[in-house]
Amino acid sequence: RREWHLLSRPVGWPKPEDFALVEAEIRQPGPDEVLVRNTYLSVDPYMRGRMSAAKSYVAPFELNKPMQGGAVGEVLASNIDGIAPGDHVLHFGGWREYATVGAAQTVKVDANAAPLSTYLGVLGMTGLTAYAGLLRTASFKEGDTVFVSGAAGAVGSQVGQIARLKGASRVIGSAGSDEKVKLLVEEYGFDAAFNYKNGPVAEQLKQAAPDGIDVYFDNVGGDHLEAAIGRLNRDGRIAVCGMISVYNDTEPAPGPRNLARLIQTRGRIEGFLVGDHYDLQPQFVKEVGPWVASGALKYRETVVEGIENNLEAFFGVLRGDNIGKMIVKL
Ligand code: NDP
Repeated sequence: RREWHLLSRPVGWPKPEDFALVEAEIRQPGPDEVLVRNTYLSVDPYMRGRMSAAKSYVAPFELNKPMQGGAVGEVLASNIDGIAPGDHVLHFGGWREYATVGAAQTVKVDANAAPLSTYLGVLGMTGLTAYAGLLRTASFKEGDTVFVSGAAGAVGSQVGQIARLKGASRVIGSAGSDEKVKLLVEEYGFDAAFNYKNGPVAEQLKQAAPDGIDVYFDNVGGDHLEAAIGRLNRDGRIAVCGMISVYNDTEPAPGPRNLARLIQTRGRIEGFLVGDHYDLQPQFVKEVGPWVASGALKYRETVVEGIENNLEAFFGVLRGDNIGKMIVKL
């Protein structure tokens, strides 16, 4: 079996030399553990943070140890009550072919209810992030004009569609290619979308949102955040989900220059972490599950095959190679 280790902490953009795919022993499960053969692995932007030593909400990856991440696989041996060989589980032992994991981080999933990869994406962590961030943190309400960045990605594509399905008056998205922009409007039902690489974000957002915005769901930070503050309406709300434009920076990025606008708009900016919102999981599955099943909410996955391509898939997320959730299939 093989697993990915972090060898050195990347400075700036991570490089292949910072990582190694190594052979390891399969460990039989101890009490309250299962042995899983992984079939789908998640690669996510937040993993870049775990490669640094800086103190954060989740501990840094340890050097020369397997990295971790969301994964779904088939149980080969189980010492957990209620989980049997042949069952499928969602767990946190990603970046490896076989994982031995404990009960606390292992959830049984139903392979017949939905494709297994969706438990990492549209029905999983990124889906709940979109749901909780939009509905709870941004206090979305019917009639709002919503702007979301990273809109063709896993979280962003779901934010825009949930807003539309829940009665937004206008949904605007930004993404990094013309192909992604087309998808937002033609397939996901966004009212307007723009390619942030085609011109200044502030100008493109002004055109797309002539009457301003009530909610900005930020996946990107940087100029996007400043532009959104500039278009914010009275009582506008900004949910800070991620700031992928700065994850590989070596110097702190300058902040938005127009924060004073929050005074006149009585605006609110609030960060959130999906981990604090798992109480919404049942409600999320109940509401979003049927939309996914009926096709009212569409999703894409970009699937990269093979454990040897796990690292390249992660780099791909940072570069924007993915449309929808980036998944590694073993
Ligand atoms: P995505 O599927 O959206 O993939 C990341 C995307 O970011 C890429 O496809 C790329 O698309 C875009 N991107 C990369 N660099 C830049 C840049 N410099 N400027 C603008 N866009 C860029 O990932 P996720 O849906 O998994 O995550 C989206 C965001 O949500 C991330 O910031 C992530 O950290 C955050 N997040 C936060 C959580 C929380 O609990 N707060 C939980 C989960 C995710 P493009 O081609 O459009 O550039």
